[in-house]
Amino acid sequence: HSGFVAIIGRPNVGKSTFMNRILGEKVAIMSPKAQTTRNKINGIYTAPDVQIVFVDTPGIHKPQNALDDYMDQAALSTLNQVDAILFMIAADEQPGKGDQWIIDQLEHVTKPVYLLVNKIDAVHPDDLLPLIEKYNGMYDFAQVFPISATEGNNVDELLTQLTAEL
Ligand code: GDP
Ligand code: MG
Repeated sequence: HSGFVAIIGRPNVGKSTFMNRILGEKVAIMSPKAQTTRNKINGIYTAPDVQIVFVDTPGIHKPQNALDDYMDQAALSTLNQVDAILFMIAADEQPGKGDQWIIDQLEHVTKPVYLLVNKIDAVHPDDLLPLIEKYNGMYDFAQVFPISATEGNNVDELLTQLTAEL
C-alpha cells in the first residue's frame, strides 16, 4: 500500500500537530499563532505494509490578500493529485465561513475526503455528535474520525483505514 494524502483545514485546527505525531519527527512547524507554516511540507510515514506521503497544505484557507490568493492556487492544485484528503476541524469550534470556503474547493474532487474531528480531548463527549452532524450536512465525507493529535486518540485506527484505502 502507498499513496499521497493531503491534510486541509482552517488555521489552528491542529494539522501540523497531527502530522508531527504520525511522522514522529518535527517536519512541520507547530505554533499557537495562525499560519506559521507557509509552505507545503511533505512527510513520509513508513510502516511494514504501507508508505504514505503526507502533504500539509496551509495555503488552503479563505484568501485574505494577494499572496494568500497565490498560495491558494498552488495548494488547490495538489487536491487533484492526491489519493485521499483529510479535512480537519477542531472539536471545540463551530463550523464557520472558513470551513465552507474549503468545502467549496472540494466540489470537483473525486477522491475520498475524511473528516478528522481533532481536539476531542478539549470537549465533552456529548458535544461531539451534534458537531459531526453539522459537518455531515455540509459535505459527503467518506468517514469520520474523532481524534486528538496531542493525546493520540484514534490516530492508529485512522492510519489503519488509510492503509486499507491506498
Ligand atoms: P495548524 O495551523 O492546523 O497546523 O495547527 P497547529 O498544529 O499549529 O495547532 C494549533 C494549536 O492547537 C496548537 O496550540 C496545538 O498545540 C493545538 N492542538 C493541536 N492538536 C490538538 C489536540 O488534539 N488537542 C488540543 N487540546 N490542542 C491541540
Ligand atoms: Mg500548520
